Amino acid sequence: MGSIGFVPTMGALHEGHLSLVAESNKTCKNTVVSIYLNPTQFAQGEDLDSYPQKLQVDLNKLSEYEVDCVFTPNNSEMYPEGFKTNNYSNNLFTLLEGKSRPEFFKGVTTIVAKLFDIVEPTHTFFGEKDFQQLCIIKKMVKDLYYPIQVVPCPIIRKKNGLAMSSRNVYLTKSEHDIAATINHALESGKNLLQLGERSSYLIKDKISKSIAAEKLFRVDYVSVADSITLAEISGFIEKDILVSTAVFLGGTRLIDNFSYSISSSK
Ligand code: AMP
Repeated sequence: MGSIGFVPTMGALHEGHLSLVAESNKTCKNTVVSIYLNPTQFAQGEDLDSYPQKLQVDLNKLSEYEVDCVFTPNNSEMYPEGFKTNNYSNNLFTLLEGKSRPEFFKGVTTIVAKLFDIVEPTHTFFGEKDFQQLCIIKKMVKDLYYPIQVVPCPIIRKKNGLAMSSRNVYLTKSEHDIAATINHALESGKNLLQLGERSSYLIKDKISKSIAAEKLFRVDYVSVADSITLAEISGFIEKDILVSTAVFLGGTRLIDNFSYSISSSK
């Protein structure tokens, strides 16, 4: 049997998603993409009802790639009557995104485990745009002994630096430009790191102030965390880190991050 690469998505595909498909095409003999708007990863009051759905456009985009199967299940297939969630959980669920979205990773791991069981891939491709999700899926694969290689894929951005996201369709033209400054703020933190700054406080402060300069933003969090444990670093940075942020622009919640290797910059 040849290799099967699997790219799970919620649809409204953009170049970020398509980069995962391209990576699967490069790595695997076959590629399966799922498009499923998973209701259990949205809390009450989040954007499940307004989340963009463009199945035909998505299928047209995928037709440009070597995709052997596009799996588009419906809710009653993925959540049969009476099913709630699986019991899988790990210690990364409650950190970072999990603090703001307590049910999110339960929803994600429930659906991804089901999709793994159905598709039985040899490889699966996840974007570093959702770095914590990637870490949690890697850990779930290890903890539950799935014979699957999880392949991380870099963040794809617009020319102005804005990380591509299906939620960017909620933004007006001027909000797109404003949203791009989130990445510029992160870059200002990265510059400090490159200059040798190792105080997590000063890195966070620099990024927070850059974001706060744009009055339309409401910051959810700015974090400097250990890139493996995702535990917040409160003092001196001695390990490889994940620098991440979540910011509201109007009603749209935007996330972005970068990883920084202290070991390779010494
Ligand atoms: P979603 O449809 O938002 O659930 O995303 C499906 C997959 O695409 C996840 O693995 C995401 O991390 C990945 N993804 C989303 N946006 C990007 C991006 N800008 N660059 C790379 N991967 C992305």
